[in-house]
Amino acid sequence: MEKMIYMDNAATTRVLPEVLEAMLPYYREDFYNPSSAYGKAGEVAAAVSKAKETIAKVINCKDEEIFFTAGGSESDNWAIKGVADSLKKKGNHIITTKIEHHAVLHTCEYLEKRGYDVTYLPVDEKGCVDLSELEKAIRPETILISVMFANNEIGTLQPVEEIGRIAHSHGILFHTDAVQAFGHVQIDVEKMNIDMLSASAHKINGPKGVGFLYIRKGVRFSNLIHGGAQEDGRRAGTVNAPGIAGFGRAAEIALSRMEERAGHESALRDRLIKRVLEEIPHTLLNGDPEKRLSNNASFCFRFIEGESLLIMLDQKGVMGSSGSACTSGSLDPSHVLLAIGRPHEIAHGSLRLTISEDTTAEDIDYTVDVLKEIIDRLRSMSPLYEDFVKKNG
Ligand SMILES: *Cc1c(COP(=O)(O)O)cnc(C)c1O
Repeated sequence: MEKMIYMDNAATTRVLPEVLEAMLPYYREDFYNPSSAYGKAGEVAAAVSKAKETIAKVINCKDEEIFFTAGGSESDNWAIKGVADSLKKKGNHIITTKIEHHAVLHTCEYLEKRGYDVTYLPVDEKGCVDLSELEKAIRPETILISVMFANNEIGTLQPVEEIGRIAHSHGILFHTDAVQAFGHVQIDVEKMNIDMLSASAHKINGPKGVGFLYIRKGVRFSNLIHGGAQEDGRRAGTVNAPGIAGFGRAAEIALSRMEERAGHESALRDRLIKRVLEEIPHTLLNGDPEKRLSNNASFCFRFIEGESLLIMLDQKGVMGSSGSACTSGSLDPSHVLLAIGRPHEIAHGSLRLTISEDTTAEDIDYTVDVLKEIIDRLRSMSPLYEDFVKKNG
């Protein structure tokens, strides 16, 4: 049988059979618009409410603080544009980081063209925000701090609780893009002082095109999608009942298996990292060795072109990524790798492998074996590598 090893779970995940089962009734017999007046529609609305309840429990908020969206990107856009618009009289300054997802970065750039001022905080070599830099960046006109929970390329977890504390001690709102963290690590919006949080179903074995934005009660906030009265009048559009039912089920499963899954994944992640660093010379691990997502391994291989590496891995049945799905196809090296100080030529040789509960030790060993072979082959064709070997013996 031909090998097929999926190691791109940060880009998207497979929908679990139980999740699909939870969705199907709302396409088939219970297809009704949950906003309609008859009893059957009420049953669908109840299913949506139940999903909201489940999700609220995962992050320790109230049901009515969860607003469903069409995914992580929409949630990020809404959080940032919503606050910018409603607080524009108070101030025009936003603080974020250099390593955010493009859904945050490009939204901030959009606002910069409209008179807002944005500070992009640097990170250290492990991808972690420096809290004293954050303190220094705060001004009287700062209205929002947006820092991601976990980075999608290099897996680094940020000191979210401390960031929330700093934000609140200055009376500033705190948003976190938790798309990679939700369902993977413990999140408590109360304890962590989080005012807004973005998440997405398809990163936790749910369907694509569904997400939510948590908005703390009392936060002033403009709407992004105007139209009908759905989601308490905050987010118009016919409610995606099947998707939401699937998201609820996926969140429930993720929560119930969180510890077990993190244990399985981190053991395999560590095996992968250890073997790669020991057996492939001139390799760097990206991200924090300890404070990282349990499923993320990210490397830079010197004298290697990441795109060629991906193609050759694919030919051997291993599906990985050079950084994020969004930047693949562009020739610019990843903004995240540049932010942690990788020079351009090294950033180009990046590989992100993100595992799942389905990944086995055999998958890891096979992947490392083919990776070694491919890197040897690519380096043997590289004039840069040849020069390097000549100079360094
Ligand atoms: C995937 C991802 C997003 C975008 O989510 P979509 O649901 O695909 O729009 C945003 N932020 C991070 C960190 C992500 O990993």
